[in-house]
Formats: sequence, C-alpha cells, structure tokens
Amino acid sequence: MISVCFFHYFFFNPLVWAVFISASYYNHQGFSAPNGLRLSKRFEKEKAVLQKWLQSTDLTREVYQHLAHYVPKIYCRGPNPFPQREDMLAQLVLLGPMEWYICGEDPAFGFPKLEQANKPSHLCGRVFKVGEPTYSCRDCAVDPTCVLCMECFLGSIHRDHRYRMTTSGGGGFCDCGDTEAWKEGPYCEKHKLNTSEIEEEEDPLIHLPEDVITRTYNIFAIMFHYAVEILTWEKESELPADLEMVEKTDTYYCMLFNDEVHTYEQVIYTLQKAVNCTQKEAIGFATTVDRDGRRSVRYGDFAYCEQAKSVIVRNTSRQTKPLKVQVMHSSIVAHQNFGLKLLSWLGSIIGYSDGLRRILCQVGLQEGPDGENSSLVDRLMLNDSKLWKGARSMYHQLFMSSLLMDLKYKKLFAVRFAKNYQQMQRDFMEDDHERAVSVTALSVQFFTAPTLARMLITEENLLTIIIKTFMDHLRHRDAQGRFQFERYTALQAFKFRRVQSLILDLKYVLISKPTEWSDDLRQKFLEGFDAFLELLKCMQGMDPVTRQVGQHIEMEPEWEAAFTLQMKLTHVISMMQDWCALDEKVLIEAYKKCLAVLMQCHGGFTDGEQPVTLSICGHSVETIRYCVSQEKVSIHLPISRLLAGLHVLLSKSEVAYKFPELLPLSELSPPMLIEHPLRCLVLCAQVHAGMWRRNGFSLVNQIYYYHNVKCRREMFDKDIIMLQTGVSMMDPNHFLMIMLSRFELYQIFSTPDYGKRLSSEITHKDVVQQNNTLIEEMLYLIIMLVGERFSPGVGQVNATDEIKREIIHQLSIKPMAHSELVKSLPEDENKETGMESVIEAVAHFKTVFPPRKPGLTGRGMYELKPECAKEFSLYFYHFSRAEQSKAEEAQRKLKRQNREDTALPPPALPPFCPLFASLVNILQSDVMLYIIRTILHWAVEHNGYAWSESMLQRVLHLIGMALQEEKQHLENVMEEHVVTFTFAQKISKPGEAPNTSPSILAMLETLQNAPYLEVHKDMIRWILKTFNAIKKMRESSSASSVAETEGTITEESSRDKDKAERKRKAEIARLRREKVMAQMSEMQRNFIDENKDLFQQTVAEEASNFAVLDNSPMVSDTTLTALGPAQTQVPKQRQFVTCILCQEEQEVKVESKAMVLAAFVQRSTVLSKNRNKVIQDPEKYDPLFMHPDLSCGTHTGSCGHVMHAHCWQRYFDSVQAKEQRRQQRLRLHTSYDVENGEFLCPLCECLSNTVIPLLLPPRNIFNNRLNFSDQPNLTQWIRTISQQIKALQVLRKEESIPNIASSKNSENMDELQLPEGFRPDFHPKNPYSDSIKEMLTTFGTATYKVGLKVHPNEEDPRVPIMCWGSCAYTIQSIERILSDEDKPLFGPLPCRLDDCLRSLTRFAAAHWTVALLSVVQGHFCKLFASLVPNDNYGDLPCILDIDMFHLLVGLVLAFPALQCQDFSGISLGTGDLHIFHLVTMAHIIQILLTSCTEENGMDQETPAGEEELAVLALYKTLRQYTGSALKEIPSGWHLWRSVRAGIMPFLKCSALFFHYLNGVPSPPEIQVSGTSHFEHLCNYLSLPNNLICLFQENSEITKLLVESWCQHIEVKRYLEGERDAISYPRESNKLIDLPEDYSSLINQASNFSCPKSGGDKSRIPTLCLVCGTLLCSQSYCCQAEVEGEDVGACTAHTYSCGSGVGIFLRVRECQVLFLAGKTKGCFYSPPYLDDYGETDQLLRRGNPLHLCKERFKKIQKLWHQHSITEEIGHAQEANQTLVGIDWQHL
Ligand SMILES: [Zn+2]
Ligand SMILES: [Zn+2]
Ligand SMILES: [Zn+2]
Ligand SMILES: [Zn+2]
Ligand SMILES: [Zn+2]
Ligand SMILES: [Zn+2]
Ligand SMILES: [Zn+2]
Repeated sequence: MISVCFFHYFFFNPLVWAVFISASYYNHQGFSAPNGLRLSKRFEKEKAVLQKWLQSTDLTREVYQHLAHYVPKIYCRGPNPFPQREDMLAQLVLLGPMEWYICGEDPAFGFPKLEQANKPSHLCGRVFKVGEPTYSCRDCAVDPTCVLCMECFLGSIHRDHRYRMTTSGGGGFCDCGDTEAWKEGPYCEKHKLNTSEIEEEEDPLIHLPEDVITRTYNIFAIMFHYAVEILTWEKESELPADLEMVEKTDTYYCMLFNDEVHTYEQVIYTLQKAVNCTQKEAIGFATTVDRDGRRSVRYGDFAYCEQAKSVIVRNTSRQTKPLKVQVMHSSIVAHQNFGLKLLSWLGSIIGYSDGLRRILCQVGLQEGPDGENSSLVDRLMLNDSKLWKGARSMYHQLFMSSLLMDLKYKKLFAVRFAKNYQQMQRDFMEDDHERAVSVTALSVQFFTAPTLARMLITEENLLTIIIKTFMDHLRHRDAQGRFQFERYTALQAFKFRRVQSLILDLKYVLISKPTEWSDDLRQKFLEGFDAFLELLKCMQGMDPVTRQVGQHIEMEPEWEAAFTLQMKLTHVISMMQDWCALDEKVLIEAYKKCLAVLMQCHGGFTDGEQPVTLSICGHSVETIRYCVSQEKVSIHLPISRLLAGLHVLLSKSEVAYKFPELLPLSELSPPMLIEHPLRCLVLCAQVHAGMWRRNGFSLVNQIYYYHNVKCRREMFDKDIIMLQTGVSMMDPNHFLMIMLSRFELYQIFSTPDYGKRLSSEITHKDVVQQNNTLIEEMLYLIIMLVGERFSPGVGQVNATDEIKREIIHQLSIKPMAHSELVKSLPEDENKETGMESVIEAVAHFKTVFPPRKPGLTGRGMYELKPECAKEFSLYFYHFSRAEQSKAEEAQRKLKRQNREDTALPPPALPPFCPLFASLVNILQSDVMLYIIRTILHWAVEHNGYAWSESMLQRVLHLIGMALQEEKQHLENVMEEHVVTFTFAQKISKPGEAPNTSPSILAMLETLQNAPYLEVHKDMIRWILKTFNAIKKMRESSSASSVAETEGTITEESSRDKDKAERKRKAEIARLRREKVMAQMSEMQRNFIDENKDLFQQTVAEEASNFAVLDNSPMVSDTTLTALGPAQTQVPKQRQFVTCILCQEEQEVKVESKAMVLAAFVQRSTVLSKNRNKVIQDPEKYDPLFMHPDLSCGTHTGSCGHVMHAHCWQRYFDSVQAKEQRRQQRLRLHTSYDVENGEFLCPLCECLSNTVIPLLLPPRNIFNNRLNFSDQPNLTQWIRTISQQIKALQVLRKEESIPNIASSKNSENMDELQLPEGFRPDFHPKNPYSDSIKEMLTTFGTATYKVGLKVHPNEEDPRVPIMCWGSCAYTIQSIERILSDEDKPLFGPLPCRLDDCLRSLTRFAAAHWTVALLSVVQGHFCKLFASLVPNDNYGDLPCILDIDMFHLLVGLVLAFPALQCQDFSGISLGTGDLHIFHLVTMAHIIQILLTSCTEENGMDQETPAGEEELAVLALYKTLRQYTGSALKEIPSGWHLWRSVRAGIMPFLKCSALFFHYLNGVPSPPEIQVSGTSHFEHLCNYLSLPNNLICLFQENSEITKLLVESWCQHIEVKRYLEGERDAISYPRESNKLIDLPEDYSSLINQASNFSCPKSGGDKSRIPTLCLVCGTLLCSQSYCCQAEVEGEDVGACTAHTYSCGSGVGIFLRVRECQVLFLAGKTKGCFYSPPYLDDYGETDQLLRRGNPLHLCKERFKKIQKLWHQHSITEEIGHAQEANQTLVGIDWQHL
C-alpha cells in the first residue's frame, strides 16, 4: 500500500519535490541511498521556497497556497493512517521550509545557535504522563497540588522531608522552580537559580536577533492561526476558502467520535455490524477512538460512508444518545491532522529558546479582528468542548509548555481564563468528556498560584464569578428557595457531579491565604463572601424531614446529593473562616453579613404560634410551641454553623479581650441562635431513642454523616459551639427550660412524681424507655456543652491541644496503627491531620517488627502514654456509642491492672475564653440542680421510678465536672477575689419547699451503700472525696467552717475505710484469678499461633495415629540402608486410620476397603529452567523422558486428611448435586470447579481435585521370593535384563503380526531360548482389593488428565508415566524447599507433607498393578535403553537431555513389571540397587560433561586424594571418548568438587524416594541440619563414598556404556558449542528482584507502553513476579486467545510462564495478584511497607513505601510450596465477592 500511494503521488505531482521525496523516502526505509547529489538538491529546493517566502508581499497567501496544495497530498491517502510516512513527508515538505524561514539558514545550525543564546527558565515544567510518579512535600508544599517529578524530587531537599507519593492521572506539570509553590527549597539541583533575581524579569527577546524575531512572528502567526482555524472548523465537506483546491478528490471518511456513554462492548459490536470488520479490527478502532477521541472507520465515496454512519447511529440510539459519527471530506481530515502535527511542532520549536516561546505567547494572546475574546487562545478555550479528545490534549499541552512557562504571559493567560470562565464551565456541563481532558482542568495552574489567585480575585472578581457560576448550574429550588435534589433525573445527577468541580476551583483559590490585605482585596473578598452566603442560604434547611408515625415511609427520600454538597463544601467553609480570621475588619464585616442572612432565614421563627411560658424553681421563660417529633426539621444549617465559626474567631481575636463592646453582639438574640441547632441535636437524640424508626435508612445515614469525621467539623461541632454561644449569653435556667421543652421532657421534670406514674403504666414500656433515653441524651448534651472547650476560641487552648485531645481519646479505645488513627481524625484542605506534630507527646510507637511470625502483620501500633490517661473523658463528644463503651471498658481494665479504683472522673479542663466564661454557671443553676436532685431521688427510691443507670452515671459525671470546676477556680483564684462558683455549698443544702427532699450530698451518701449500684461506687466515693477537698480549700481560705457536716464526713470516712479494705482484698483475689486465666489463654493462643500448620491437622492426626517409622526403636542402632539386597529390614507395622467423615477407624491393609487422602494435582513450572517451552499438542506429547530443564512438571499436594474411599465418593456426589442445583438457581461461581473434579476437603476446606489411596510399603508385598544367596553383579544383571528385554521385544513383534496362529506362537517362544527362569506368559495376581484398585485408577487418571491437560482416559499408556513423573517432581520440589531453607532432609517435616510423600510414592509404586503389564514393560525397556543401548530404539534422547531423577523413579517403579516374570531368583532389591547405580553413574557423566570447571588458579593445597585422582582418570577417559572436545584439566580437585556439589540434589531426592518406598528409617545424622551429609547419604543409599568407584568396580561394562553415552550426536554438538545444556546443581528459581523504593517501580511502569497499541501508555501495567515481564493488563488492546477464549494479558501470560498459575504486582495499585486458571484469582497484600509498617493497597495514603523482604519471601514461599491455588481458594471462601470477578480479563 505504501508503494501504491507513493506512485500515485509521484505521477500526480509534477513538482520537483517528488524527486527528493522519493529519494529521502527510500532512504528512510533503509534502501540504499545514492543521494549525495540529491541532498544538496534538497537544500536548494528549500532555499528556493525560503527565497520565495522572504520576498513575498503576502506571506499568508503564499503559505496557505503551499499548504492547500501539499497537505491533502501527504495526509489521508487511504483507509488507514500511516503516521510514520505522513510525519516524514510533512517534515520535509511543510515544516522544513518553515524552520528554514525562522532561522534564515539551515535549521540544523540555526536552532543550536538559538539554544546557546538562550537563558533557560528555572521552571522544570515537565508535563506528567499517565501513571508517572509525582511527589509532594508535606512540610514545604504550599498546597497538595504542588508536585515534583521524580528527577527533581530526587535532586531536592524534600527527599529528606515528609513526603507523599502518588501516580499522576496525566496532565499537570512539575512545579520545580516555582517559588510560590514551595515554602522552602523551590529548586532542585538541576534547576537551581544561578542568575540574580533581576535577570529573571528581563525580556527573553533580547537574546534573539531582530530578523529572527520578525520572521518567527510572521510564521507563528500564520501557522497558529491556521491550526486554530482548521481544528475548530465545523463544516464536513467544505474547506476554508483559502485552502480549497482546484482538483478535489471525491473521498470521504466515516469518522467515529468518543463519548463517555457507550461501552467498549457496544462500540465493538456496533462496528462489526456497521463496517463489516472482524472483531480484532473493531477492537483496534475502539481502542483508538478511546485514546485519540476519534478514528475513521470507513474510507470511500460519500454514500458508502454515509451508509456506515446510519448503521452506527441506528444501532446505538436505542437507550442512549447515539454515538457521534461524521462523514468528512478527506481533505478536511488531512488538514486537521496536519493542524495537530503543527501544534506539536510549535511545542518543540519553542523548546529551543525562551524568546521563541515568548513570541508564540504574544501571537496566541493577541486580540483578533473580532475584538474581545478573539485571540487564538480564546478561540481554542471557547471551542474546547467541540474538539475531540486528541485535539484537546494536544493544545492543552502546548499551553502548558508555552503560556504557563512564561511568567509574564501566564498572568495574561490567567486573565483570559477568568474572563472566559463562565462560558467554559457552561460548555463543560454540556460536554460529556472527563474533566481531565477539559480546558477547565487548567484552573489548578492559576488558582493555586497565590499571587495570580489574588490578582484574579481583585481584578476579575474571581471568587464571586466561581460561586455565581456554581449557583447558575444548580437551579432546582423549593418554594423557600432552597436546593432540591429530590426527583433528580439521571442527566441532572450527571450535571451535579460536574458542577462539583467548581467547588474544587473555589478550594484552589482559597487554599493559600493572604498575608496582606489591600482595601481592594477586602472588598472583593467580602463580595465573594456575600455570594457564598447566598449559596449557603440555599442549603439552610434543605431536605427537611418529618417524623413518620403509623406506617413506614414508602420511598427513601433522596439525601445523598445534599450531603455530597455539604461534604465537598466542608473545606471551603473552613477556609472562608480562615480568611476572615486573618483580618479583623473583614471578620467583623463577615460576621454582620452572616448574622443578617441568618435573620432573613429565620426572621419569622415564631411562625405565628402562641408563645408558651415555662417555669421551674421560680424561673420562667417564654418560648415558642415547637415539637421536633411533630414538625419539619432539617439537618442542614450551614448559615448557623458559619456564624458559630465566626463567633469563635471573634472570641479568639484581640478585640474580644480588649474592646468587647465593639463586637456586633448586641444584635444577637440567643434564643433565636440556639433554636435550630438545638432542634437538630434533639432530632439525633430522638432517632437514637427509636422514635424515628419508620423514617427508614436515609435518616439514619444522615445522622451518621452528621457526626462522621468527614462532616462533623462544619456540622455537629459547630452546633455544639452555637449552643455554647447561646448559653453563655443567656440565663442558664432559661436555656435549660427551653432545652427540656425541645427534648419534650418538660412535662416529666415539671410535674412531681411524673416518673412514678409513668412506670406504673406497664402498657407504655416503650414510652418509658424512650423518655429514659431522651433524658440520658439531654444530660450528655449538657456534659458536652460544659466539657467541650478544646476549640481555640471557646476555651483557652491552641490547635495543638485540640488534636492532642482527639488522639488521646482515639487511643483510649485501643492502640492503633498509623493509618487507622489518621482515618479517625479530620483532615484539613491539605489532607493533613496535624497528627505527626503531637503524636510523640501522647503516644508510644510500638513496632511489632520484625514480627514474631515472619511476614504476617508486622505493623506498628501507637499506644497511649499512661500519663495521658487522666485526660480521658468518658463523654468525649466524638465518640460513637460503640466507641464510648469500648473506651470505657478499656479504661476500667487499665485501672484495674494498675490496681486503682475504677472511677472514671471527668478530667480537669482548660478555662473558657472570656466570651464563653459564663457558660460554667449552667452547672450551678437552679434548674440544673433541680434536675440532678430529681434523678438522684429516682435512683434512691429505685423501685418506684423509671430511671436508668446511664442516667445516674451522667448525673454523677456532671456533679464531678462541677466539683472539678470549683476546685480549679479555687486553685487559680487571685488574691482577694471571691470564687462565685459555689456548687459544693449548693449541693449540701437540702431541697426547697414544697416537697423538702434531702440534700444532693446526702442522697449520694445513701446511694454509696445501695447494693444495686456496685459499679458506680468508686465514682461516688471520688465525688465525696473531691467535695471534702474543696471544703478544706474553702476553709483554709476563709476562717469560717461548717462544723455540722464535719462530723458526718469523718464518720463516713471511717466506715469507708473498713469497706475499702475489704474491697481491696477481694479485688486482689479477683485480679489474681484474672491474671491466671489470662496467662492460660495467652499460652494457648501462642501455641496455636506458632503451630498453625500443625494445628490444622491435629484433628485428623490425633485420630489417624500414623505410625511414624522413624520412631521405631527396633532399628535405631544399626547402620541404615534404604535399598538393595542389604536393605535394613523393617518390622511390619500395623497402621490404623480414622475416616474424617464417618469417624470409623480402620486398618490399612492390602485387602481391605480403600482409605484415601484428599489431594490436589497441578501442573507446575516452579522448577522450570526454560519458561518458553510450551507443549504444542498434548494428545501426541510423549512424557516418558523428563528434560532436565524441568519445564513442566506435575505436582501433587495434600492436606493429609483421611477418608474412606466410599465416604469420599458419597461426599463428592453430594457436592456435585448441590452445585448443579445451585447453578440452576443463581448463576454464581464457587471457589472450586466441580465439573473439573474439584472439591474442598470436608475438614479443612483445602482445595482438592482427587484423592490418593493409602497403601502399605508395596515392595514388601512383591518381594516375598527373596533369595539372597547368589545375586548377580551389575554387569551380569545388565546382561540378564538385556536378554529379557530382547525376548519381550521378539514376543511383542510377533503378537503385533495378526495372522499367526497361537500354536505357532508358542513354538516360536521355544525357539527363542528364553533366559533362564523368565516366564513372559506368567501374569501375577493383583493383591489389592477392588476398592483399592479403583482408587489407584482414579488417582492415576486424575494425574494424567491434569498433568497433560487432556481428557481422562484410564487406558492411555501414558497414565503410569504421569504417576511416576508426579512422584519424582513432587519429591524434587520438596527437596528444593528444604535446601533453600537450610532445613535437614529428614528433619521434622509437616505431617501433611510427610503423609503426602509417603502415599504418593507408594501409590506410584503400586500403580503398575492396575496398568497393562505389557505397557509398563514397554516403558521400562525404553527407559532402560536410554542408558543401555538397544538397537530396537532409534532416537532416544541423549543423557544431557534426561532428568536422571525422573529416570530413576521411572525405572525403579516400572521394574516390578519385568521382575514379576523372572523366577531366576534375582530379587527386586538387587534390581533397585543396580538401577540406582546405573543412573547415578550416568548422572556423574552428565555432571562432568556439563560442569564449567573454571580453572581459577587456586589449586588444592593438600596432595590429591583418592577421589580426585579417580575423577581425573574418569575425566581423561571422557576426553578420549569425546575426541578431546572436552577441555583439559590438570587436577581433579575442581572436578571432584563439582561432582559432589552437582550430585547432592539427586542423592537427597533419591534418599527421600527410597525412604518412602521401602520405609527404612533415616539415619539420625540426616535428621538434623548441618554440613552436607554427603557420606551419610552415600551410606544410606548403599553407595561408595568415592562415587567414582562405581565405574572402577564394573569397569568392563561401564566403559562400553560411557563410550556409548559420549558418542551421542547431541553430546558432540554440545561440546562444540552448538547447543546448550543444563548444568548441575540446578539453582532454585527465585521471584525477580524488586527495588527497595517503590517509586522506582512506579517510574519504571510509567515508562512502559502497551506493546500492541503503538506507544500508548498502559493503564494497568502489571509485573510478573516470576519472570519480570511487564504486561498491559485488564485492557482490550492486549487480550489474547487462550483455548478459544479471549483473556487478558495476565491470564494469557500465566499459560506460558506458569502453566496457568501466576503471581503479579499491579504496579499502579500496589497490589499483588494471584491467578490460577481462568476463573480463580485473588489480591494479596504487597511486599511494600511504609514507615509505620503498613501496606498501602491502591496507594491511597501515599506514604513512601519500601520493600519488606520478609513479606516478599513469604510470597516466594507460597510459590515454591505450590500453594498459590490453595491461597486463592481460601481467600475466595473468606470473601465471596472475589468469586464474582472475571479474573480472566485481567
Ligand atoms: Zn521536574
Ligand atoms: Zn527541578
Ligand atoms: Zn520539603
Ligand atoms: Zn468413612
Ligand atoms: Zn483437609
Ligand atoms: Zn495493551
Ligand atoms: Zn512471567
């Protein structure tokens, strides 16, 4: 297609251009280029154009003609874009001349000159890519939007500060060098300022030559104008007049545009229908549309394109608005593509010089012919929402690299931005693209720059503009003018979400506070404040609720929108207050304005109702008649709350201290102020009392958020402050009466014996309960009003005290991790809680690190310092009810541990600020005392009244608070001042007439002895003690003492003492008991923790009572030998096991019913040395020989739980049936795949897919024909076996010829001369019971099915091979784990492993009995032939390509099939021994051939030993056989060393194998870890310590064998370097190395682009931890087909890398991902921790993260142990939502 296009071009274009285009084009394509001459010609042509342009009188026309002619000839020449070719031609024909024109010479010289003359800016300005890491300094950044790129960050001072790391969403740039962005260290090393400040201001144009300036200006003006004109061009088939061509082609594009409405699937489906493309092509189109915003999907004449368009529109218009499609003339598309190219070209040209950049800025902002808003920049901004995504991001980037990098023009640009703000926002509301691709997102660049923001506020009235724009877009109001979100349509909801970005802008503007105020700023700020009040006014009272009585509400009312608004505005409200606080004049003005608006809202708050008069204790007050439970009430009161905030600020200000009369307080009407906040609090109390149950969850949610940490600062907290304000300005008695009335409790307290009457009415139990709760809530509210004085301005505290108090109370609940604590504290607009600055003062950080069990949790906890416990207040206002009771319990427990009494008295509090000082009087007011007395009275007469302990507890707390208050007053009293707070005196007076009751004090004394109040006694005692202390203080200050009470007190105290003593003793006894109990349970827990692995099996273990052979005392003294004729004889042991299902015990016997272990078989690549190998056609694959790269093995694992075979069968059938029923009902997945034979172990829920039968050592069953007298040596044995094999082969051949009669057959057999004692017609009887035989087949088939991924076929000849292979592979993988962890080979192995290996080995050894004898014999013959040459087998693998351990296992386990027909007296043991020796020798040769013995000059110091000489001799023989292809090595030292090291894994595996096969206990030496145990292993395995002796002893035959091995063609090829071979020992596979610092991983991933969609950044880069490949996960572009199904990149990767199992790190999410098969997966915590020992999944917190090696090792261990699938299973069982995820799409 390229060439067609090109010729087309060539013939239709007679201009000379073609000549050099062709030359250069071919040149670029890598063809030979004889173009020395052409090159000069090219310059000539460019010079010619340059001359033409220079002399032109109308440059614009000239250039436009040039473009009109060439652009359509370069771009859009066919259905598909060809960016490389287009860009290259454009550079040559279009951009090249412009560059010449700018420079006036060859740009290759011109630009470097400009670059040199340039004084570069000190701004970094790097524009972030999606996913790139960004850093913000928590100490120095002016606001969180100030970020650094990684390079600048690493070169800055901030790397040692507290920083936050995030990944960029794209857009935005590095703020390095912006002095306004950083409080300190604005420059990194690279951008450090080295010129003086004055030069900073200078005009960059002075560095440019005059003529360059003029020419650049000319060409920039023309080109920029052209780009803007063409990109914003809206006609579909007509070009701007000056670009129209004479000969116009008739080609069109059907252009598809992106929207945010349609899904990928919809688009792909539609495209397939509309343009008849394949799914792959459709995916390609869809991906490009999503990325670039548009893509042509069809090319041709108009009708052809129009037809596609109509199909697309028709297909997508059903539910939503249709996809946007345009049929565009190809020349328009061509010009637009070039327009985009131009923008990026401009961006790169201005990079050469700041002067060029300035010229572009001038051009861009120059007012056009149409006056206001007609500059090019304006035009682009105002057309933003009409442009497609690709065009937008292109010009945004140009803006960022030009206008935003030039400080002078940034200001001018900001002004344009502000002027267009309203229009752009309006467009954005209509637009359906994300904000990230909208020009409005640039706001952050101006609004967060303090001087710019200030300038925009004063000059452009920005605050008001933003707020007004916001109001414009929220038009839905109710009759009172309040916002109404009820009945919001989807579209409105969508808009509402968009509108919220305006709040973000507002936040940006306010985020940096002014240090100086000009009158202008004051005026404009207050204007903005007015607008803001208008906004809040629309929220005041919105979403009112009315209590539902009778029946439940029918529909949950909408509440979320209102709360979203509140939540988003929270920081803005706080910041508004912060601004006000900075200037007294502004503060007072704002206060007045706010008050005025509040009056407007609630001016007529009496609602025309008749006022009522309340009176108690001789006080009376007038109030309105209003019941929360009957009338409308709203939670939204932002105006009241803002006023409360401002009031506190006033209180903090200097005026309040010096000239309080100047404050605008006289206009306040306290009852009006408190009314609405009080209603809101009463609403909460009533909800809590259960009175609003019928109003449903929406109300519960609202109440929840009202108190929630995200909202409370500007909701609940401010309501409390408003009430505090009210109480401090009015008679507390009046306040209390109004409060009683609003709580609807006035009746109860004003009517004598009201409580008594109520309690007698049994029918109203609910009402009693309700009233009790309300009374409790009211008392709680009073406690809060008096006790919460930690907001600066309310009490005399600072911000630090406030945060300290929060932390103290959080930690009083329990010790907390850093993140947990942060979550419970409110964040400010900078996302800071201020916690770090005070935490040290109140808490210890205790690391549980390194953790007791490696890698488990290991996070650190903050623990409250003991000395801070005294500041604990039980009624802290931010406690939820659950937290309160937890804290109470924890604190009482602590006190008991410290052997203190358990009273939790109120803490001493800081004094109030003057404006709030009178608030304390509420405690000693008459009504308060009356309330206290009433409740105490109820408690004393405890049977007759409805009261509650909580009520009493709160009253006691209030009394305590009052006493604390008085005590503090007395302590701090100045000379001669009288303390007017006389609570102590008041409570010792008896009640007043008419019903004279005893004094409060007297009642307390009575209660102290009440048996039903045991819990509160300590508190009462504390009160009495404090009372006495106060009395003493009073007495010492004034001479007069009250004698009469003295007596009672002393008497009291002596009685007290007695009781206290008794109590103390009882307490000590109780503590001791508790301690012992705690110790015991602790011990138990520790035990379980430490032995978790074991513990999971104990149930079975206790029951199954496995006889562990190693403990058998019979054989412990002798030298132990695992195999051969000399094998240590093990006495037979009976083995009893219990079925976990029916609990019946049974002995394991040959003839009894089968017992089975649950098992899980899986393919594995854990040991693989070659991950690229894939089995192509499993049906034809021959697994007989395992390659030493172990590229794909079959692993068997088991949880070790024993069942009867028939019990298991029944269990499995029921699981299957259940699953089928369930699938019909609901289409859900389970964590296991029943159809694939998977089930969960009924005891431990471990994932399993088959069962292994339990067997006795099988050799003992067949080895009953022992005759040790005369066993052949190796040579003889090999000969005998070879003869037998030959005989079998002849027989086999004859059997395969069909037409021979049976008689003839036997004749032949006679002729054959069978070896002595060999009877091939003998078929041994299978000793096993039917049930065991069935299980042998079941497990064998399962291994075959899973291992080869084929359909089950129990008769396939490969079944026995797979069984042996799985046995060998599993042993190898366990040997690796033990070696890697430096554990002894026969040390204490977890039971499940021990059981699994034993059963697996015995099973594999017994499997031949259920296979066809001839098949197994055939396998044996072929395996044998790989070592002992046999003419019948052609191409057997060479010994370099055989894994010797697999070979050994195969030979040993197949051998009985041959041996059972041998009656010559050769024992099975003899065969085993010879096979073992033979394979060992082959392995030694293998090692010698492949060992890369580097002669490192370090020879042995001692003279050569026997082994070394022997191995050297052997090596020499090898050299001889290989024709000296082996390197010559003079000494045997290295050789012996590599043989020893290389063979160790093989020896260890063999020891395990024979141990489990024959049941011989392991020698005690190998049971402990230590040195290599080489000698012990040799002894155990019946090998000489000098392994080379094997060759010498049987030199006759070994020479022949070794020679035959060495002569294999592959050995030659290897030695000649034509191929590779595995060398020994094979190293264990490890997961890849991860960097210490997580950000470097993010950086690496951010540079990763999707391998399939050219150069596009991958959205979910995912790292394979096994091989280190980065993948583009969860994305259409990288889907691949696996087994006929489209799967994501990760799943596809697991099939090649991990045979279905994968371990990944999702880099941007900081999450480990486990995958197994297509349906299984889970997330796992990442191995990266922050300084507080916590992980940060999804990078929410952004603390710096570092690699935790222990955690990483744990992941590696899971992998080595083949436990990934099991881990997934457990995770999915624990969390059902994981089951529903489409893991295969990741
Ligand atoms: Zn930077
Ligand atoms: Zn920098
Ligand atoms: Zn810093
Ligand atoms: Zn059973
Ligand atoms: Zn189990
Ligand atoms: Zn991709
Ligand atoms: Zn991989």
